[in-house]
Order: sequence, then structure tokens, then C-alpha cells
Amino acid sequence: MVFSYYKKLSADQKHIYEQSDRIISVHLPDAGELRPLIPLLATALAKEDREQVEAVCRKLALGMADRLAVPHLRVRVLAVRPSASWGELHGLYEPAEGRASAVISLWMRTAKHRRVVAFKSFLRTLLHELCHHLDYGLFNLPDSFHTEGFYKRESSLFHQLVEEWRPDSVEK
Ligand SMILES: [Zn+2]
Repeated sequence: MVFSYYKKLSADQKHIYEQSDRIISVHLPDAGELRPLIPLLATALAKEDREQVEAVCRKLALGMADRLAVPHLRVRVLAVRPSASWGELHGLYEPAEGRASAVISLWMRTAKHRRVVAFKSFLRTLLHELCHHLDYGLFNLPDSFHTEGFYKRESSLFHQLVEEWRPDSVEK
């Protein structure tokens, strides 16, 4: 399946899109070593502890960057999602481009109800933004598109990290 915006891309962009679409998984070496961070993240989010959420996200991001041999990146966790007529921003990836490192921004609360974001969607957002980082740093793609392959890579990381973890083991 090809997303509808493909038609509007230039020939060069189509080529990048097709490359992105062909990569359907990311093998995370020693993923098991990072798995203990997952319940910590769920607990911190349940406690609405922004600093703790940020600390665990940073450990996860750096741990994944090291295992995949891509440049380190910063993660910042902010309180309430920005919103506009187009909807809410869940996460944001900003490539290094002159800065010391790339930056991922994540928001803990939904703009509409000010509720803490559900754990799984929060983790997926972190992995989603990290996949943009991998497009540049691991796959050497000149641009990072949302392709079916991209979403499969996001899912593949998710399953490697939460494989042996059950939501009922979260301490509140
Ligand atoms: Zn994205």
C-alpha cells in the first residue's frame, strides 16, 4: 500500500519513499536489557511524574541509539500538548542541523481533556520520533517519510521492547 501523498512527490522523493517502504523492521540488539525501563516508564506516567518520565525516555533513547550505533539525541517531555485547528501535536522530531544533537519533544497530557496520555500511545510516540532519527542516522535516507515500512519499523521496535511485559504488572 502506498499513501496518497506519494503522487505529489518529486521523482527524487519517490525514490526515498520507496527505499523507506522496503525496510519493514529494525533489529534492536540486546533489546532485553532495555525492557526493565518499560514498566518504569508506565509507572512514572501513571504517577504523572514529568521529570521521571523524561529521565526514563532519555535512558531508552540513548540505550537504543547506542545499540543501533546512531548519534545520541535529546529527549524533552513537556506538559500539555500544543493544539490548533488541525488537531494535537503528539511528538516532534527535530534533526540536528547545526545543533549539538537532534531533539525529540513529547507531551504528557492531551490538550482537550488535560489527561495523561495512555502509556502505549506515549511509548509509540517516542518510538515514532526515534524512527525519524533512524531514517537519517541508520538508513541514511535524505528525508524521512511516513510510509507503511516506517510504521512497521515503529511496531517492530515496540514489540521488541514490550514483548515480555504485561500491563497488569504496573505498580501505581
Ligand atoms: Zn512522524
